[in-house]
Amino acid sequence: MKPPTPFSPRHSLILTRPVRYASTSTSSPPASPKPRRWLGLAVVTLATAGAGAYVRSQDSTSATLNPETFTKYSLVSREPVSATSSLFTLRPRKPSGSNYDVYEEAWQTGIWSVMFKQPQLQIGRDYTPLPTTAATSLSVDEENEGCLRFFIRKDPFGEVSRYLHSLAVGADVEMRGPQIECAIPKETQIILFIAGGTGIAPALQAGYSLLNRTSQENRPRIHILWANRRTEDCAGGQSDTPKMPSPRRSWFSGWFGTSNSSTTPHSEAAVAVLPEKSTSLIVQELEALKSQYPGQITVDYYLDEENTFIGKKAISDFIDSTPSTDSSRKSKLILVSGPEGFIGYMAGPKLWAQGRELQGPLQGVIKDLDLKEWAVWKL
Ligand SMILES: Cc1cc2nc3c(=O)[nH]c(=O)nc-3n(C[C@H](O)[C@H](O)[C@H](O)COP(=O)(O)OP(=O)(O)OC[C@H]3O[C@@H](n4cnc5c(N)ncnc54)[C@H](O)[C@@H]3O)c2cc1C
Repeated sequence: MKPPTPFSPRHSLILTRPVRYASTSTSSPPASPKPRRWLGLAVVTLATAGAGAYVRSQDSTSATLNPETFTKYSLVSREPVSATSSLFTLRPRKPSGSNYDVYEEAWQTGIWSVMFKQPQLQIGRDYTPLPTTAATSLSVDEENEGCLRFFIRKDPFGEVSRYLHSLAVGADVEMRGPQIECAIPKETQIILFIAGGTGIAPALQAGYSLLNRTSQENRPRIHILWANRRTEDCAGGQSDTPKMPSPRRSWFSGWFGTSNSSTTPHSEAAVAVLPEKSTSLIVQELEALKSQYPGQITVDYYLDEENTFIGKKAISDFIDSTPSTDSSRKSKLILVSGPEGFIGYMAGPKLWAQGRELQGPLQGVIKDLDLKEWAVWKL
């Protein structure tokens, strides 16, 4: 059973959203809460206010998505991906020709999110738009209308995710943004993306942003390690690099305290074939991205249910397979995305100081590996 997630400022009632400046190095972890930049991994903040946050009442008059005021969208569809997560499609309530430009600028920059408002409680949470080029993507009409899609997990005790899952098709949803979570530097050649659960949404964005903006001659690579609790979350997914088992302890067992963790051997092997009849929509998205950019994107799946987990070996195997660089470190990037416990286990927790969310020092599995050529960023 999942105990309550430790309450963090991310979920508290705050008035303003911190500007995100901090970055994480494998060699020089930032200890001070002062905002800093590192290796050009600049975080551009287009939004100005409110994170997991109290939301001041504002008129939803703008037809175009913007960081200042909430814009009304309506729920076009909500398709279940698993028992606990769904794919949401939202269309701007009022037509606006400018939405395309707003989205495009964010896509060109890197990984971005928007904040959804829960109007009764006047709180907001961040969610990650999915790229629109893949197989299960928006129709041309929906794209022209400025629709956005989201992969959202329903937290059984969560205020906003429960609210979103309770909405009927046609209901209004208010959002503001874009908020750039991580600008992907132009020099980036290789991304290792370590994702837990819905943390896969930014991985899809990273794949889209990185691969879409580069030419045939300049072919970057992205390798995704995706951990899930249940088979249905990533049904039909087949790992590209099956590995030998290596018994260890899963981050889930540490974070969620699964009772059988000490008796059941855990394996670091990626899941070769997941025994599900239908392929999950997110797996279809990943497959579509893979066929669009053959050889440039690979995915390995890990399942708590199957006692497979992302450990040091999974990470170092990929790291070792990449060509050595002149330690400019701008070309190799590790992104970690998922629940707080997952990020903490992999790279150490993010910090909250002086009203700001900071990257915090690099810790956890990635620090132990001492990866000098790699920049690390916690999403
Ligand atoms: C940049 C970014 C992008 C994101 N993108 C996505 C995405 O694409 N899809 C997605 O599904 N999620 C995404 N998230 C996570 C999302 O923003 C929410 O955090 C998530 O949906 C939970 O919000 P909630 O309001 O439903 O839950 P909350 O109400 O915030 O509760 C979360 C958990 O905290 C516990 N809790 C609440 N209050 C307390 C308390 N006082 N003490 C102890 N425990 C407490 C609850 O029991 C619950 O388990 C993203 C987060 C960020 C920061």
